[in-house]
Amino acid sequence: MSGEATVLVIEDEQPMRRFLRALVAGHGLRIIEASTGAEGISLAASHSPDVILLDLGLPDMDGLEVTARIREWTQTPIIVLSARGLEEDKVSALDLGADDYLTKPFGAAELLARLRVALRHARLHSSEPDDATFRVGELEVDLAARRVRIRGDEVHLTPLQYKLLAFLVRHAGRVVTHRQILKEVWGPGSTSQDHYVRVYMAQLRRKLEDDPAQPLYLLTETGVGYRLRAEL
Ligand code: CA
Repeated sequence: MSGEATVLVIEDEQPMRRFLRALVAGHGLRIIEASTGAEGISLAASHSPDVILLDLGLPDMDGLEVTARIREWTQTPIIVLSARGLEEDKVSALDLGADDYLTKPFGAAELLARLRVALRHARLHSSEPDDATFRVGELEVDLAARRVRIRGDEVHLTPLQYKLLAFLVRHAGRVVTHRQILKEVWGPGSTSQDHYVRVYMAQLRRKLEDDPAQPLYLLTETGVGYRLRAEL
């Protein structure tokens, strides 16, 4: 993966930490570990990790509080680790500034894909200029020219459809919550209008997906939001 990137794991369960160590071994990632929220915050400050894996169920402190505390001084990507069924916690963590989540149990491929996306975004924000053209599969979005193509054919989008797609492209590979979408695309006053997002997402799928009922690019994250696939 990326040279000498450092991953901070904040997780109280030792078997889970061992599992994570084994998964990232051999992928050019260094792991540092904390078993409490307080220790995690302190290591995040002293070691400036490139990405943080944060368990939401910690013994000393709520993982949501850890997210908020870390976000007071750094934009280091935070991937939340959470149990299935706790969608509300995931949404809260994302709304507090976490970048993504993984639902336990997860496998190596899923973890590495999330880490790749997080590290890519971290690097984009620090030095490299944004790549103006996004490509995945047959979908191509040129952010500079505001042009969208599928299989090489130009797709005509309304201004709001384009705004929604461009927002997803800027977060490609990461989950975005309904609330984040509403705030960014429709403005801060519209965060209770969940149905806007569903309606426009359906319109985008009809224009971009071969089978809108089985989307390849615009994925639903049940109970949380949406994710534009970054790699096929
Ligand atoms: Ca735990």
